[in-house]
Amino acid sequence: MNTVSTRSADVVVVGAGLAGLTAADELVRAGYDVLVVEGRDRVGGRILTTEIAGVPVDAGATWVAPGHTAMRDLVSRFGGEFVPQFHQGNGVLSFGGRRRIESITALAPWSMVDLWRVLNKVQKLVDGLPVSAPWEHPDAARLDAMSFGEWLTGQYALEDTRKFMTMLSLVHWGAPVGDVSLLNVLRYIKNLGGIEHMLAVEGGDQQDRILGTTYNLVNRLAGTLEPRVLLGSPVERITTTGERVTIETGAHTIEARYAIVTASPVHRSTIEFTPALPEPHYGLSRTWRLGALSKAFVAYRRPFWRDEGLSGQAMSDDETVFLTFDVSPSADGPGILMAFCDARGFDAYDEDERRRRVIRHLVHLYGEPARHALDYTDFSWGNDTFAPGGPNPAVGPKAWTTFGRFLREPVGLVHWAGTETADETSGTMNGAILSGRRAASEVATRLGRVLEPASA
Ligand SMILES: Cc1cc2nc3c(=O)[nH]c(=O)nc-3n(C[C@H](O)[C@H](O)[C@H](O)COP(=O)(O)OP(=O)(O)OC[C@H]3O[C@@H](n4cnc5c(N)ncnc54)[C@H](O)[C@@H]3O)c2cc1C
Repeated sequence: MNTVSTRSADVVVVGAGLAGLTAADELVRAGYDVLVVEGRDRVGGRILTTEIAGVPVDAGATWVAPGHTAMRDLVSRFGGEFVPQFHQGNGVLSFGGRRRIESITALAPWSMVDLWRVLNKVQKLVDGLPVSAPWEHPDAARLDAMSFGEWLTGQYALEDTRKFMTMLSLVHWGAPVGDVSLLNVLRYIKNLGGIEHMLAVEGGDQQDRILGTTYNLVNRLAGTLEPRVLLGSPVERITTTGERVTIETGAHTIEARYAIVTASPVHRSTIEFTPALPEPHYGLSRTWRLGALSKAFVAYRRPFWRDEGLSGQAMSDDETVFLTFDVSPSADGPGILMAFCDARGFDAYDEDERRRRVIRHLVHLYGEPARHALDYTDFSWGNDTFAPGGPNPAVGPKAWTTFGRFLREPVGLVHWAGTETADETSGTMNGAILSGRRAASEVATRLGRVLEPASA
């Protein structure tokens, strides 16, 4: 018979992703007794490592932008190093099966004009938006009433512009343009520092990777919290009685003064709350559905595309692979291409078929040498068995204006963190850290301490 352990703590943190580990770290360093309860049998959440040709690579979060100072502080705390994302040379563009080796933004002249026209319109709308309370924008109701796709149609966006925006939507929200609200798109772009910043490698969101993978970093952070991290313990119930909150998993019952839930909003409602959360919190959970994005890695003896002056960056409207990057450890090899794959043309197939589809498209993009792969691996976030989905919620029309204000509003003794709740860089690891710090600070204040801002 299984026995249930009964414990107590000042604070229980639900979720051992970067937000949860940060919140716990801040509170432990302030002297509080903290337990972290994680449903998966590993830490990291949407940060995960896998291996290809003996090289560890990031199946989840990878890049750190120059302004992601919270993330950079964490890397330097553990003596980590960055590797600049390789981007020297030309990109490959393939729309409608026509492959062009040029700068990645080089479309036909009329397509370029249309793309800049639409990007400028997007940026103008972005400029006036309040990031922390987008529902307060005077035009919020209208901007939130339509999907990004409907807006593009209203702008008479040309086919290539739409394909470009689809790629942007798939990689950021794991969903096509018709599934995300325009207000969500604008708010997200603003929160990441503008569209140019989002697209850039040097000086932008794709600037650096972490040497030895991001997962290695979160694992080291989790190591400092041992033995406070309980893995393989999905939280089933959170019950508030008077001044105490009880967190129950199959194996643990923990009494605490406060709980910080860091599960992505869609997964909050998998927990049974007593008393029930106010109704809008369930609405939030229903409408903040996580998208689905898949990553495939293909290894070659060397990064052969570099010999032809190619950067390994490609953009495509293929139904499987829509974006590639060169994540080779060095010019000597192995050469590793990382491919972002559209879950709709990828997730339903078995591994052999996925591999066949990815390599077939890499041959189209990079020529015959791409057929001779040394190794292949992939990961589908939509098919993950616990807390599936990623990278970000595909927030549909009307969800921000109806439920957005409840994202981080505490309910009794329960506080909320997670990258989605961050005011800046939400959707990134940096946002996850900021949200963890904010929730830790809220709880510490209620426990009678004021936390020092942003300890590194
Ligand atoms: C494919 C992909 C690529 C990405 N690329 C980048 C990138 O290049 N740069 C970047 O900055 N960000 C990137 N991201 C986003 C980044 O991974 C996230 O923003 C960040 O890791 C979120 O951290 P979090 O702690 O808020 O949430 P999570 O990592 O989702 O952590 C939440 C945790 O809660 C746990 N949980 C859920 N429900 C329960 C429950 N009932 N009981 C117990 N535990 C529970 C989950 O298992 C999970 O571990 C990417 C994400 C994906 C999927």
